Amino acid sequence: MGTRGPTHTGIGMTSDRTRARMVERLRVEGIRDEIVLAAINAVPRHIFVDEALAIRAYDDAPLPIGEGQTISQPWVVARMTELARSGGALDTVLEIGTGCGYQTAVLAHIANTVYTVERIGALVAKARRNLQALKIKNVRLKHGDGSSDLGEDLTVDAIIVTAGATHVPTALFRYLRATGRMVLPLANPDDAGTQRLTVIEEVGNGYREQTFDAVRFVPLLPGIA
Ligand code: SAH
Repeated sequence: MGTRGPTHTGIGMTSDRTRARMVERLRVEGIRDEIVLAAINAVPRHIFVDEALAIRAYDDAPLPIGEGQTISQPWVVARMTELARSGGALDTVLEIGTGCGYQTAVLAHIANTVYTVERIGALVAKARRNLQALKIKNVRLKHGDGSSDLGEDLTVDAIIVTAGATHVPTALFRYLRATGRMVLPLANPDDAGTQRLTVIEEVGNGYREQTFDAVRFVPLLPGIA
């Protein structure tokens, strides 16, 4: 029986279409990478927010996820993923700041393996449930402080930091392949409380830093909770 019965909720019936419209808006707003747009289109964002907020899941806005944290705005998730890919393949990615796991799920559609670290235990559990509900299996979650050395044996193509940093977490550079890049929201000295998306790449003996869009993230904090 392929018919859709009354057991489908309104959000269930409309989410594919509203998500496709959201992806069209991201395209209009400058996201060019079709691989990224396809991944955003594949991830049901309403799964990652509380039921009461599901109606707003396809607005291009951050939303609260509990513990004083937020799910990132879709445009920001798309932009950071696009910058991390830079047109190339991503085999392995490290994300700092799992939150409810939305960006993690988007990355899991693009990379072979996603490592993600979250400092708040309750959010690690929430993200694990969300990723399990979507049957996403290529993610390794860790409860830890991603602003310092993780004590892991890892080498990744890209590191995406999804919390606002006042300085570059250089302790993470050792996990980055020589050709890899770190994407992070780095404090904007001209505008307190906001950051600029920044891409850091190794060049010769040093690092090259390029700045992109203005953004506003919850802060990258030390220690675990
Ligand atoms: N990637 C998430 C963004 C969540 S908000 C998404 O797709 O929606 C940022 C998250 O970073 C918060 O959950 C916060 O607890 C976490 N965070 C902040 N500092 C951290 C740190 N040092 N290590 C790991 N996670 C951190």
